[in-house]
Amino acid sequence: MSSSSDPTGTAYKSAVENLGLKSNIAKALEMPDRELKVEIPFRKDNGEIDSVVGFRVQHNNTRGPFKGGIRYHHHVDIEEVRSLATLMTWKTALIDIPYGGGKGGIGINPGDYSKTELERISRKFFRAIDPIIGVNIDIPAPDVNTNAQVMSWFMDEYSQTHGYTPGIVTGKPLELGGSEGREAATGRGTAIITREAAEKWNIDLKGAKVVVQGFGNVGSYAAKFLHEYGCKIIGVSDISGGLYEPGGFDVDELFDYNYEHRTIDGYQQGKKITNEELLALECDFLIPAALGSAINEQNVDSLNCKIIIEAANGPVTGEAADKLWKKKIAIIPDILTNAGGVTVSYFEWVQNLQQFKWPESEINEKLEQKMVNAFNEVYSIRESKKVPMRIASFMVAIDRVSTAYNLREG
Ligand code: NAD
Repeated sequence: MSSSSDPTGTAYKSAVENLGLKSNIAKALEMPDRELKVEIPFRKDNGEIDSVVGFRVQHNNTRGPFKGGIRYHHHVDIEEVRSLATLMTWKTALIDIPYGGGKGGIGINPGDYSKTELERISRKFFRAIDPIIGVNIDIPAPDVNTNAQVMSWFMDEYSQTHGYTPGIVTGKPLELGGSEGREAATGRGTAIITREAAEKWNIDLKGAKVVVQGFGNVGSYAAKFLHEYGCKIIGVSDISGGLYEPGGFDVDELFDYNYEHRTIDGYQQGKKITNEELLALECDFLIPAALGSAINEQNVDSLNCKIIIEAANGPVTGEAADKLWKKKIAIIPDILTNAGGVTVSYFEWVQNLQQFKWPESEINEKLEQKMVNAFNEVYSIRESKKVPMRIASFMVAIDRVSTAYNLREG
């Protein structure tokens, strides 16, 4: 995990020091408010009973209800969920939406279960965490391996006992109160942040070379919007491997291919390369948009980019970040770059609470404002305090949460 996804890591500590935050407040803000571990017994399709383990960690709700996704992955454990819940507190504070931070997960490989088994697991999990969630208390969302369908089951399960409550989760299908623009939001936000960074670092966006590791939801939309800004997307990859096209891909065609096939494997344009070769391509912007710790001590010396845009959560480890700082390769951190998703989730919740719908143009305009404001705040701290963007981001976020904390505590 990178230092940005490790709340007690160097970025958090440096930000606390730079802010001159009292150690008792810093310690209080590190500790999660509540952690729940639940057993989820369920009946398999063959009639046998099985059980899996799930978690919901509520890190901090000083500035608003807990907010964060629910992940289904065999790596899910309490440490990972706690770390990601903490990250959400800083992300929602940095982008300045009235939420705190939470996260949940179930330690399963979803590929091992049928759709009906996953539905039973999802409903049982939601019932198990019911006592600690609520539309003004804790609002889950999709994360790795959960999607709009899982959110529909969650919403239905909750509504059975509490009455129709679309605002209990975000990331729903449009037909059940989802928001226009949510699917593209994280990629759109990533592209906006890249555009702002290009301006500050004097890189001409027209023709700027971009490499995207992880051509999933976030990576593919980021590529699409950056292409619209005039960038050349010269390298892309997913779990199946990478593709390199020095002249730049026809991104709309590649996007459509990937949308249809859910992989870039088999796409005709570009030369096949490995994921490691992809990371070493010479480019202006390298966008890791797949997994945590993708850029680490083993591969950091091979990088050949000007700026890393952290679209995934925690894609650059703390050790790699230190080396990159010395090499003057800037990192635009995850809590800033990928905050577009939770921002449009917030818009979805607001629309649900007020029972009306905004058009996509309005969502995109509001998202643009949020992303640009947050970028400028972070950049001005970077300049005035002479700290990396990563530490500056934590400083803005921690300052906001600690100020609210001091005002609320008697
Ligand atoms: P996704 O599942 O849609 O896409 C992930 C992509 O990464 C896929 O193309 C997959 O093939 C690829 N991938 C997986 N392992 C890889 C590997 N070893 N090398 C190269 N590629 C690999 O997921 P997503 O929603 O796009 O999320 C990507 C990242 O962004 C995750 O870290 C997630 O936590 C973070 N994130 C997502 C959102 C969101 O709204 N979707 C919001 C904030 C943060």
